[in-house]
Amino acid sequence: MKLLVASHNKGKINEFKEILKNTEFEVISLADLNDTDEVEETGLTFYENAYIKANYYFQKYNLPVISDDSGLVVKVLNNQPGVYSSRYSGKGDYENNLKLLSNLNKETERKAHFECVLVYINKHGDLHSFKGRLYGAIHYEMKGVQGFGYDPIFYLKRYNKTLAELGSLKNRISHRSKALAKFKRYIYENTYNK
Ligand code: IMP
Repeated sequence: MKLLVASHNKGKINEFKEILKNTEFEVISLADLNDTDEVEETGLTFYENAYIKANYYFQKYNLPVISDDSGLVVKVLNNQPGVYSSRYSGKGDYENNLKLLSNLNKETERKAHFECVLVYINKHGDLHSFKGRLYGAIHYEMKGVQGFGYDPIFYLKRYNKTLAELGSLKNRISHRSKALAKFKRYIYENTYNK
């Protein structure tokens, strides 16, 4: 059965292909459908944004769809940047990091987490969601060159490193991998035990 990944991001599509390689699903992407639509993320929560995208493509193609939304949540900044993570500074990743560091200034309460929400709509139109979180803190400066987004300022005490210094280990502990693991478990339980 085809499963459409509602994303233009090749990295994400490959992650889905990898975790679903021994299932009944044939993962297809928007690129495979020559679909260049940009769906506006107008939601106020990760769930809403993931739902908006999943529902848009389910209505359009009538295929099972999976979609995700993610971002950084900083407690002392009233949970910002949240769903505005990629648009925080209005510029790029580097400027987003600078803005966050400057907003936190010398604040010592720096707890934060990344969150990823997946929304899956099956062939009958039933909705399921899966959430993953990675807890850490905002570092005082950018460190490391790997990864993307807020990785250079997201500090993990247990490794004494930022995510941008962690290398491939990131993909095993990340918010996205946790949400994907829950989705994978759900698919296995509901595909093979019935
Ligand atoms: P999206 O889910 O791809 O729309 O990502 C939203 C934004 O959240 C990204 O542009 C990043 O700013 C931030 N973000 C999400 N996941 C990560 C991550 O694993 N590392 C760093 N930043 C992330």
